[in-house]
Amino acid sequence: MKVFKCPNCASTVFFENTQCVNCNNTLGYNVLTDEFAIPSTYNSNYKNNLKFCYNHKYSVCNWLVENDESNVFCKACELNRKVPNESDAENFKKWKKLEIAKHRLVYQLIKLNLPFQSKIKNNNAIAFDFLSDTNKNNLVTGHSDGVITILLSEADSVNREQLRKQMQEPYRTLVGHFRHEIGHYYWMLLFNNDSDLEDFRNIFGDEKQDYNLALKKYYNQGAPANWNLNFISKYASSHPWEDWAETWAHYLHIMDTLETGNAIGISFSKNQTQIQEFNTSTTPNPYKTDDFKVIFDASIVLTSAVNSLNRSMGLSDIYPFVVPNLVFKKLSFIHNLLKKNL
Ligand SMILES: [Zn+2]
Ligand SMILES: [Zn+2]
Ligand SMILES: [Zn+2]
Repeated sequence: MKVFKCPNCASTVFFENTQCVNCNNTLGYNVLTDEFAIPSTYNSNYKNNLKFCYNHKYSVCNWLVENDESNVFCKACELNRKVPNESDAENFKKWKKLEIAKHRLVYQLIKLNLPFQSKIKNNNAIAFDFLSDTNKNNLVTGHSDGVITILLSEADSVNREQLRKQMQEPYRTLVGHFRHEIGHYYWMLLFNNDSDLEDFRNIFGDEKQDYNLALKKYYNQGAPANWNLNFISKYASSHPWEDWAETWAHYLHIMDTLETGNAIGISFSKNQTQIQEFNTSTTPNPYKTDDFKVIFDASIVLTSAVNSLNRSMGLSDIYPFVVPNLVFKKLSFIHNLLKKNL
């Protein structure tokens, strides 16, 4: 992600900030310019005709919209269909954590020029349901025909860590859930004709195999012994649709971390890398890079550096994955599909 500045004092502001920590001005993210702004509704010295999204009043959104009556929610919040009620204090707090991850997702969809619209306006589009699971309703986090359900319990870090261990995953985050589930939605959009589907099947396998049966088999027997030669995660081995969604999520992880490295201006010295023909001295802007090999090589150098920093603090690796050659090919396939948009 970009590094943002306060429009008043030029101090760095984080993507989630609603106030500058240096000059105390109220500010928000202007999606139209990809900059932070001080809305004219807050300070009339700024003639930008901007106001906060309606969800700002619940402290779950800091995006700005044009100040006219037709604009209520921002592009990220208008995708919501079901959110917890204010009277439900526990879940209301969890909603905020989900929104932080969702806004990061939507920021990236815009960067990738991917189409998204609210299902409320267009039935083929996207709706987010943030729901509470109970013993009775058997809800799970998942995607179905554009509806993305994220369980509010995933926002509880203790619960999430328990699930991560139970599922034997090296990584489980809210932003990871959003990136995975939206992958299922874009699969429907991108592979809606036979020739594109053929390309997909050549690399990810035949998605016509029974999905429910495949998942059942995966949960009963686990991943095949050599899964790490072909897949980014154990779960990706369960069915080509899950392989796609897992790989898609990793593509978004790589693009976002690299954009952040680029925005900060992280540079590499030649002896930092074991990669032959490593041909960049600074972190490239991945959204402006055609060749996925350049993105991928820089990402390996960057994430191994940050993994080392994390280990210095006794924390887990930020990117605890090894990418086999076949997964590199799958990631390149996604990049080549999407770069037509960039
Ligand atoms: Zn400031
Ligand atoms: Zn909003
Ligand atoms: Zn999935």
